[in-house]
Parts: sequence; structure tokens; C-alpha cells
Amino acid sequence: MTSSKKTDIAFAKGDGIGPEIMEATLKVLKAAGASLNLHEVEIGEKVYLKGFSTGLDPSTWDTLRSTKAFLKAPITTPQGGGFKSLNVTIRTTLGLYANIRPSSSYSPFVQTKHPKMDVVIVRENEEDLYTGIEYRQTPDMFQSLKLISRPGSEKILRYAFEYALQHGRKKVTCFTKDNIMKFTDGEFHKLYESIAKEYPQLQSEHWIVDIGAAKLADTPEAFDVLVLPNLYGDILSDVAAQISGSVGLAASANIGDHGAMFEAIHGSAPRRAGQNLANPSGLLLASVLMLVHLHELESAALIHNAWLKTLEEGIHTYDIFKEGTSRQKVGTKEFAQAVIDCLGKNPTTLATVTYHPTKKHKITFSSSSSTRELIGVDIFIYSKTSAEDFQKKLLQLPIHKSFTLKMISNRGARIYPHGQPETFCIDHWRCRFLAKHPHPSLQKEIAALFIQLTEAHFDIIKTEHLYNFDGKPAYSSAEE
Ligand code: NAD
Repeated sequence: MTSSKKTDIAFAKGDGIGPEIMEATLKVLKAAGASLNLHEVEIGEKVYLKGFSTGLDPSTWDTLRSTKAFLKAPITTPQGGGFKSLNVTIRTTLGLYANIRPSSSYSPFVQTKHPKMDVVIVRENEEDLYTGIEYRQTPDMFQSLKLISRPGSEKILRYAFEYALQHGRKKVTCFTKDNIMKFTDGEFHKLYESIAKEYPQLQSEHWIVDIGAAKLADTPEAFDVLVLPNLYGDILSDVAAQISGSVGLAASANIGDHGAMFEAIHGSAPRRAGQNLANPSGLLLASVLMLVHLHELESAALIHNAWLKTLEEGIHTYDIFKEGTSRQKVGTKEFAQAVIDCLGKNPTTLATVTYHPTKKHKITFSSSSSTRELIGVDIFIYSKTSAEDFQKKLLQLPIHKSFTLKMISNRGARIYPHGQPETFCIDHWRCRFLAKHPHPSLQKEIAALFIQLTEAHFDIIKTEHLYNFDGKPAYSSAEE
């Protein structure tokens, strides 16, 4: 495929079932006359095992940069330490901040308990626990940092509302766990509420993620567009895909200002690899999302409708095959051929898909201008002593004159002052020191306190400075 009019895209066959579902997808794209110049890149297990810790040879970035989109089959991340997630690396390096994951049911042709489901999950794609910043701090304690930024949240929230508007959707729902995570999920929720006000034509609602997830699994037709922080979006988009019929049906678009990547939501399913079993629908629908993104609307509709017609004809891979509903159980290759045979046909019961040009979302974010004042420090200490001995040793110390020891906690439970004897403690203590009189050079006194504790043989693991923003404490309080 070489022609100056064709759009250059990169593709990768990936691992496990990846090569089979990619071959099927490319065959359908070719048969549909999609105007693409294909550039293959190698990613995944083989590249990891060559010694590239991200699963991607650095030269691949040039191809990804010089092409308009990346169609990617799933990959296998090798077990063991030292390997970074390739997906996270690509998403964060290329700034692909929005992950769009539609899940609809195709009842009565694909069995589901939820025949009216039509949900689009808009998942934040760069932050949250996926920054992958993790530590073992003591023999008994492991830490993963959950990072939620204002610009990152604002971008995905605005994207979700713009997406809903442009796709004729009615409602944007947000799930968070801000009853527990008041600063991270709390900020995401607050920004959601304020941005929702700019879109009065759309309904908006917020759920706590646990009950929201239960409602989604039970009554998905109650939801339309869902905007979620990264981890909840990752988990709940698999749930949504599975309850619509199969995880093998769902596609995902990763969109940024400087690139886009399209993939199935499922993984490389190694147990199913090499047997011509896998359902290529997730990757095929990802290629449809890619064609829409590239404004190849005719080919997108041609393939999507042929695929719907194939489902209607009961030609199904093993994961959606049901006696009574399905007509023929087929493998990956035969399914792709059935879609090709249906090119030009529209579904008769399911709604025919038409694609219209959409405007590129203009996503803006504001900068925050709060006043910020350093008022103290949490110092985390490793010690294997009991709660009683630990606080005795710390309280005996003539603490630096600028600070008051406000509290000691263990795994978030307060043990000083007014601790309870039942509290289970491990080797990881948080000691909160507040400045008696905050002043601009408090940093230096924090350093002096650090030295004092070190000289008294406290084994410091890390510190976290405490700030007031606009005069209000901006850290979780000792009582929580
Ligand atoms: P998985 O999604 O690969 O497979 C879980 C099960 O789902 C399979 O055993 C199979 O029963 C079913 N399934 C998945 N895709 C299917 C399809 N197309 N057709 C039919 N059935 C399908 O999840 P996993 O087994 O937890 O992960 C396997 C590997 O994939 C891991 O190495 C993981 O890191 C990786 N992974 C990669 C991506 C990606 O590249 N985007 C995403 C998720 C997981």
C-alpha cells in the first residue's frame, strides 16, 4: 500500500493472540479500501527480552511521531521486576490523555443480561496510580503514589463533556471515592461539578465509585457517558465490555493533542494464542475508531455495518457463541472473512451506523493561583519497636524548638496522642511536626529537624511537607 494520498499509520502485531487479530483486522481494512499506508513497528515481549525495559525500541518513536495514528495489538508484559508497562509509556510519552471505551450490547444476537446497554467510558489515561511511582519503604511496607493533577483532571473532564455534546449523548456521570480520598478524588469531583455547570444542556451526576460500579454492573442502561479517574476507568471498562457480551468486543481510542493510539481493551490472552480462536472484534472496532479519527468516515461505516451484519447472521467466535442464538462457531480468520463478505450490507435489526464529521475538541485547562504556605512536615520513620516504645523514644527527644509533635500514626491510625491499645502496628510510623510560627525560611528548620532525628538514630524513610493553601490545611488530618 503506497500512495501519497493515503494516510500513514503505524501498526504493531503484539503478542499472544495479537498477531492473529491484527492479521484479521488488516485484511478487513484492506478489503474495505481504507486509504492507509501501513508502517509496522515491533513492540512487546520480544523487545522487552532484548533488554529494552519499556518494551519499545527507542527508534520506534520516530515512526510513531511521523504517522497519524498507531493501531496496536495487545502485548504481554514479561513477569518479574524491571519491566515498565509499554501501554503506560506510550500513553504518557505521547500525552494520550483521553481513553475512550464504548460498550454497547448487540442483543438479541450476542447474549447479555443488559440488552439496552450503550455506555461510553472516558478514562483519564496518564495519572492516578498508573504513574508507576512505587517503593518498598520498610521490610513490611510498600507504597504506590496516586497522583491526580488539576490540569490532567480538567482536560479529561472537559473532553468527556465535549465528547457527549458532539456525539448526541445526554448525560455525563462521574465516579470517585472522594469520601476517603479527599484531596485526589476530591479535586477530580470538585472540578467535575464546576465544569458540569458549563454544560447545562447535559445532565450530570456523581456516584461514589463502589456503589456506582455495582449500579453499572447491574443496570448499565442507567448510564450514558462515564468519566473516571484512570484506575476506576480501567477496571470498569472491562466490566462494561464483559457484561455487554464479551471483553473481546470492546475497542479503545487513546487520544492526545499530538497523537492517537487505537487498541482492543483486552490483553494478549496467551492461553488462546495460536489456535485461531480469538475474537478480533475489539481490534477491528478499534480500527473503526481510528478511521473516524482520520476522517475516513465511509470506510469506518462500511466496516462497522458489515461487522454488525456478521453478528446478526450468527457467525460468532467462541466467546460469544451460544447455542440457540448463534448459527456458526468460527475462528478468527473465518470471522474476518465473514465480515469481508458482509461489506456493503447493513444490519437489519441492529441500528445501522453512520458517521458524521466532528469538530476537534478544543480542550483547555486553567492554572491555579492559590497562596501556599509551608507549615510543617510529616516524617516517616522505620522502626520495629512497639507503639508504646516508639512514642516514648520520640517524646523523650528535645524536639527542635520551632516544632510541636502533633501526632504519630501507623498505617493512618493515630497512636499519639490518645492512641488505642488494640491498633495493629507495623514497622512504618508517620510523625507530624507542625511549626509553632510558620515563616518563609521554615525549610531550613525542617532540614535541622531531619538532622536531629537522624542523630538520635531514627531511621527516616521519607518526608512530606505540609502546606496551607489559601489559609486552609491541604493534607489529610490526623483524625482520619
Ligand atoms: P486478557 O484480556 O489477555 O485475557 C483474559 C481472558 O479474556 C482470556 O483468557 C480469554 O478468555 C478472554 N479474552 C480476552 N481477549 C479475548 C478475545 N479477543 N477473544 C476471546 N476471548 C478473549 O487478560 P490477562 O490474561 O489478564 O492478560 C494477559 C496479558 O495481556 C498480560 O501479560 C497483560 O499484562 C497483558 N495485557 C495487555 C494489554 C494491552 O496490551 N493493551 C491490556 C491488558 C492486559
